[in-house]
Amino acid sequence: MNEHDMKDEQNDTPEKSTTNESRRNFLKLGAAGAGLAAAAAGGVTVLKRMEGLPLDHFPLPINDEYVRIDQRNQINTYSFSKKLNDDHPERTKKFHDWNFYEKKKGFFIGPYRDKAAGQGQLDRALGAAGFFSPVSQLGYKSTGMDSLNAGVASWEQTMLAKEKYKFASPEEATLCIKSAARLFGAVRCGITPRDERWDYNPLYDAATDEVLTWEKDFPFKPRSVIVVMVDMDYDAIATAPAWTTDGATGDGYGKAIKLAGQLAVFIRQLGYQAVASMNDLGMNVPYAVAAGLGEAARNGAVITPHYGPRVRVAKIYTDFDFVEYAKPRDFGVASFCKNCKRCADSCPSKAITLGDPSWGPEYSTDPDYIWQASKGVFKFHNDAKLCFKFWIENDGSCAACIASCPYNKPDFWHHRLVDAQNVIAPGPVHSFMREMDILFGYGKVSDPERVTKFWKSGAKI
Ligand code: SF4
Ligand code: SF4
Repeated sequence: MNEHDMKDEQNDTPEKSTTNESRRNFLKLGAAGAGLAAAAAGGVTVLKRMEGLPLDHFPLPINDEYVRIDQRNQINTYSFSKKLNDDHPERTKKFHDWNFYEKKKGFFIGPYRDKAAGQGQLDRALGAAGFFSPVSQLGYKSTGMDSLNAGVASWEQTMLAKEKYKFASPEEATLCIKSAARLFGAVRCGITPRDERWDYNPLYDAATDEVLTWEKDFPFKPRSVIVVMVDMDYDAIATAPAWTTDGATGDGYGKAIKLAGQLAVFIRQLGYQAVASMNDLGMNVPYAVAAGLGEAARNGAVITPHYGPRVRVAKIYTDFDFVEYAKPRDFGVASFCKNCKRCADSCPSKAITLGDPSWGPEYSTDPDYIWQASKGVFKFHNDAKLCFKFWIENDGSCAACIASCPYNKPDFWHHRLVDAQNVIAPGPVHSFMREMDILFGYGKVSDPERVTKFWKSGAKI
C-alpha cells in the first residue's frame, strides 16, 4: 500500500472515533475473507467476473406491451411546460391536486432552512455553484438538462470536417473514441448501436412547446450511441438528502454534458455527424446497460463497477458506425438488488418499490396516474412522480438512493474485494453483506454528521 492509499483510507470510514479503527480492521478481515473466498472460487475467474459476463441479448425482458416513451411524459420535460400541464388537468387531480409546472416554479429558490441538516446558505451556495456550469455556461435553455438542441447539445453540425477520417479497424476507432472520452473526463465509455426503443418518440422541446420527429427534424439518422459516465463526489453525495448533495449532482451534470459536447466535436472533426445529449433525446439507463457499462438496479439508476450508482450519464448520437460495439454485461447486480432494498428503505418519498421486478407499475393501474411509466419491461417499477414531489418539497435534489446503496463506495481495495465476494455469492450472503454494510455505518442518510464531514473534506487536499 502506498502513501496515497493510506491517506485515502484515513478519510474513508464514515463514522469518526476509535471504535471505527476496530471496525475498519474487522472490515479488512472480512474483505480479506472475501478475497480468500474469491481466490478459492478461482481468483482470476472472479476478477474477470467483476468486469461482467458478456450477454448476447438485452438483459431486461421486453414484451409486446412496450411502446416508445413520449418525451411529453418525461417528468422533467412535463414540469417545464405550462401547456402540457394545462392539457392534462386529470393528471394534476389524480396526483394530490399537484400541478407539476406550478410547483416547479418555486424550486431551488426557497428560504434557507436548517444549517445543521445541510440546508443553510452555505449548502445552497454549493448547490447553485454545482449547477452553474451546465445551465448557464454551456448554453442550456431554462429547461436545463432536458433541453434538446441547445448549447453544447445543439443539433447544428458545426465544425464538421469535409474529409472523413479512416480508421484501420473498428477496434482502433473504438479505442480512439474511448481515449478521447477518458481525456475529457469519462470514467466509463461504451458504444452501442442506436436502438429506437430507448429514444423518445416524439421528441418535445419544452422551451417552445414544439413536437419534433426524428425523421423530419433531427439532422441525421443516428447509427451509434456513445455512452459516457462521470463520477460524483462521494463525500457530498453522502450528505443526502441535504442541499450539499446538489453540489455533486450539478457538478456531475456539468462534467457529463461538457464531456459529451467535446466528444461530439471530436467526432464531427473526424468528418462524421454527432449530437451530444444529456437527459433529452433518449433514456440513459437502457443505453448504458446496452453499452455494457452497468446493470439496471432497483433504485432506477445504472450500477457500474467501482462507482455503483454514483455516476452521471450522457451520450452522443452519431452516424459513425465503423466501431466495435460493446455487449451488455451481467455484473450480478439484479441478484443483489433482490435481497438488498436499502434504497427503498432509505427513500424519503417511498418512490422505490420493495417488490420484485414486474412488467409494469404495481402501485397503480390508473392511466391518469401512471402516465409517466413504461410498461412491458420486466424491471423494478418505481413512482418517479413521488421522487420529483420530494425534490420540490425538499427544495433541492435528493440522492438518498445513491448514498444508501452498498455499491456506492470509494474506490479502495477492500471495497473491491467485497464486490468480488458479492458477484459470486448466493442470495443469503447478499442479505448478510447488506447487514454488514449497515453495521459499519455505510449508506446512512439524513445524517447531520455527514454534512459536517463534507465541510471538513477540504482537509484531504
Ligand atoms: S432521489 Fe430520493 S426521493 Fe428520489 S427515488 Fe432516490 S431516494 Fe427516493
Ligand atoms: S441499494 Fe441495494 S437494492 Fe437498491 S440499487 Fe443498491 S444494491 Fe440495489
